[in-house]
Amino acid sequence: MKSAFQRSLLEWYHRHQRQLPWRTTKDPYRILVSEIMLQQTQVQTVIPYYHRFLKTFPSFQSLARAPLQRVLKLWEGLGYYSRARNLHALAKAVVRAHDGHLPSTYDELKALPGIGRYTAGAILSIAFDKDYPVVDGNVMRVLARYFAIRGDIRKPATQSEFWNLVEKLLPHGKAGDFNQAIMELGATICTPKNPTCPRCPLRHSCQARRQNLQDVLPVKKKAAATPHFHIGAGVVRRGDKILISQRPLKGLLGGLWEFPGGKQEPGESLRDTVRREIKEELGINIEVGKKLAEIDHAYSHFKITLHAHECAYRSGQVQALGVRAWRWVKPHELKRFAFPAANQPIIQKLLK
Ligand code: SF4
Repeated sequence: MKSAFQRSLLEWYHRHQRQLPWRTTKDPYRILVSEIMLQQTQVQTVIPYYHRFLKTFPSFQSLARAPLQRVLKLWEGLGYYSRARNLHALAKAVVRAHDGHLPSTYDELKALPGIGRYTAGAILSIAFDKDYPVVDGNVMRVLARYFAIRGDIRKPATQSEFWNLVEKLLPHGKAGDFNQAIMELGATICTPKNPTCPRCPLRHSCQARRQNLQDVLPVKKKAAATPHFHIGAGVVRRGDKILISQRPLKGLLGGLWEFPGGKQEPGESLRDTVRREIKEELGINIEVGKKLAEIDHAYSHFKITLHAHECAYRSGQVQALGVRAWRWVKPHELKRFAFPAANQPIIQKLLK
């Protein structure tokens, strides 16, 4: 069964794989950039970012030399910005400790910022032809269906089961193609909804197909309801300039710039939220005016509604109390800074 599974999958992959820019290279740097960008992100979204990024930073050296702001600006709109910060830190570590070459052992890779078991396996197998497996959502879906595995794929114990299984399935010397093949099958044929079983190379021995379980597997228990926060933000003006602040490097959207503000507290009006947050984070007193924009945005584990208000500076010395940095900028200068997606509609309004 193992060799039939491997053979069918590899044959199918060699004939039907999509032509993707990172599949024409063995350069570990390019493969790393693609793997980091593809985490939680669709292929079609990644492609233009991948090209732009490599044009600007063609090597670990050029990336390591760049200021973080430039890296974040290029990443703007791709989301999950910790990936950009980690990639930047990783490039510095590679230049400092590995002479500008990505190491090719599991332990050395895992020690680098932002590299987990999945990314280490992908790099080792695809760039260095080493026999390491990968497990991601696509791999779990294909295997759960093919072998009729009914464990909840959110549970670490079930995920360990998949790692053990895929390690046994890995064809010696062909791990890179095998890993890409199984992920490709999950992305294009064995899709979450309505898998195209008649075109699947594994259809003759797939348990889910035999037992008609495609809609049931993989089992993924519902996560708790997604929390929803209301954020009050201020477009604080002083003369012809606007105040922007940079988030601390650690944490969500770390290092990005934004219109200052924060989470509404129970019983608080949004105007009071804006006033309080700006006083706490930047030490100044402001007058909150009319609402400028209301933006809904979803992150991986919560949703927000961002309520942006026109504000006027009144008194006090601006200080970086709860922010990394701050600047007074003219509206046309805003595009030089990397802002989160939820702030973009505000910028568009200000530039009109
Ligand atoms: S036969 Fe259908 S359910 Fe089974 S692996 Fe192929 S696409 Fe997935």
